[in-house]
Amino acid sequence: MTLPVRPSGRTPPPGSASVLVVEDDPGLATQLVRGLSRGGYDVEHVTTGRDALGRSDPDVVLLDLGLPDTDGVDVCRQLRERSGVAIIVVTARGEEPERVLALDAGADDYLVKPFGLAELLARIRAVLRRVRPGGEVLRHGPLTVDLRTRKVSVSGREVALTPKEFDILECLAADPGRVVSRQEILESAWDAHWYGPTKVLDVHVAALRRKLDVPGLIETVYGRGFRLGEL
Ligand code: CA
Repeated sequence: MTLPVRPSGRTPPPGSASVLVVEDDPGLATQLVRGLSRGGYDVEHVTTGRDALGRSDPDVVLLDLGLPDTDGVDVCRQLRERSGVAIIVVTARGEEPERVLALDAGADDYLVKPFGLAELLARIRAVLRRVRPGGEVLRHGPLTVDLRTRKVSVSGREVALTPKEFDILECLAADPGRVVSRQEILESAWDAHWYGPTKVLDVHVAALRRKLDVPGLIETVYGRGFRLGEL
């Protein structure tokens, strides 16, 4: 299995969230720990259900259901009984019954192997929004994007953006370094089925660059889309 691990300049979110990785496959566990650490999370790793239950409360548990000592579904149920921790279960293909059982046992979401790091990080952000409704702050270099208050600042200087400009920036800041296609941005910031001219996007991106005033922050990837550059 491959997890594309991308070097990231992303700094940990404030009050950085902790993730407990419960995974007995050493190769996969190594990639997960590395990827999540680079994503700004505090990561702990255990290989058994017993150890998972012995840990003090993380914010998110990434729980492989195929564990060597105990049934992952039982681990899920026991975790849920004692806390509101966010639980994302991980299953191999063909384990649909286990996945359904785990959701019934209180899991918040599931991922089927193989999955990409970007997808994992997105799922974690989603479950964190649920367990920490205080919102989330995305950071990249001097840029701070508060998703709850929709406030943006650069090196502490608040920048007033229009709603469209904010939506575009949110798309990019959600995963710095990843190329976000023009279509993806249009669908997210305008409408689920945008088929109009895309020049409107360039106009907004130009305004966004001017307001943020950080050279190299928003890169154009010709023929593909935009991304936040390494700073
Ligand atoms: Ca396993």
